[in-house]
Amino acid sequence: MNLEEQFIESILHSNYPVFFTGAGISTNSGIPDFRGPKGFWKTNKPIMFQDFVNQESQRLKYWTQSVEFKSNFQEKKPNEGHIIITDIINEKESGHCITQNVDNLHQRSGLKEDQVTELHGNATYAVCLNCQKKFELVKIHQQFQEVRQSPSCDECDGWIKTATISFGQPMPEGKMIIAQAETLKADVFIVAGSSLSVFPAANFPLIAKENGAKLIIINNEETQFDHFADILIHDDISKTFSNLKIIH
Ligand SMILES: [Zn+2]
Repeated sequence: MNLEEQFIESILHSNYPVFFTGAGISTNSGIPDFRGPKGFWKTNKPIMFQDFVNQESQRLKYWTQSVEFKSNFQEKKPNEGHIIITDIINEKESGHCITQNVDNLHQRSGLKEDQVTELHGNATYAVCLNCQKKFELVKIHQQFQEVRQSPSCDECDGWIKTATISFGQPMPEGKMIIAQAETLKADVFIVAGSSLSVFPAANFPLIAKENGAKLIIINNEETQFDHFADILIHDDISKTFSNLKIIH
């Protein structure tokens, strides 16, 4: 069997596949890798979380960036990669998707909230940092553009921020616990489009492997964990995944 046939077989026979996705799965939806060499964060200085909390000037900068940034997500649609992951999890009625992406495309392709764990949050809505109340981003942006003041919560007066995890912001503990538990359930763990360079998230493939799961890495570039992979495919994700369509 060649690598792609082995990949298909592994997915077919898996009882609990866990997918771990990164920027590479969304590039085919036209969403750039923000941390990559030409990414948003190479040309825009990120606002550190502590500065956001402490300084109105930084919050104003943050929201100015956010208004500019929103065009990156508007009208983007899930691609074949997202859709096939959703189909596999739904057909098997088991499995999970852990993602480093903030674009909401796994949910938009049909996974339910409890089938996806977002390690870096979600860029399609905003939350109060104090009471966690959710806010529609469109309204917050409109309001910000009108008054040019950083938005605060109408319930508790806490600062509102997009629901993403900023640089310097602690990883969400609850999500990390869920991701770890899901990783330990995996009999096959599939990394799709993550360069596995951001810790602590990048530890999950190793946890899965140590726990006896088969580790599959699909990425168009090398990762530092390639030598741990049982199946390693350096190719386009949509192309690799489209072979899986044959099986359902
Ligand atoms: Zn609040």
